[in-house]
Amino acid sequence: MILVSSCLVGLGCRFDATDKKTEEVLTYLKDKEWMPVCPEQMGGLATPRDPAEIRRERVVTKDGKDVTAQFIRGADEVARLARLVGATEAILKSRSPSCGSGHIYDGTFSKVLIEGDGLTARALKKMGLTVKSEENL
Ligand code: SF4
Repeated sequence: MILVSSCLVGLGCRFDATDKKTEEVLTYLKDKEWMPVCPEQMGGLATPRDPAEIRRERVVTKDGKDVTAQFIRGADEVARLARLVGATEAILKSRSPSCGSGHIYDGTFSKVLIEGDGLTARALKKMGLTVKSEENL
């Protein structure tokens, strides 16, 4: 079973209620078992919502609101689901403070990337899942 960021398969769950449908992901998933997840929605955040970035281990919106608790809750819920369905792999949207793996934005909202993982990617890697992004299938 593969968990997939919902926005990558065409659901409008991003902060601005758009999607990031990626044909390569859909092709990769063809004939496989998979399930869409959006940790930010599962953590209780609304859609649309303010964009957020990780800054010194907190998750904050551009106007400084701390949404760390919701991001942690979302990661916990996705991890719980991964255990329930026996997921072994996840394909997660690059650069997101939840789903990003390898690189995320630096918390200054200026499009600067640093090395690191989003909170959900971290949780799933810790559980032993293979985490990929749509850019390194
Ligand atoms: Fe997509 Fe993940 Fe952001 Fe949800 S939390 S919109 S699945 S990148």
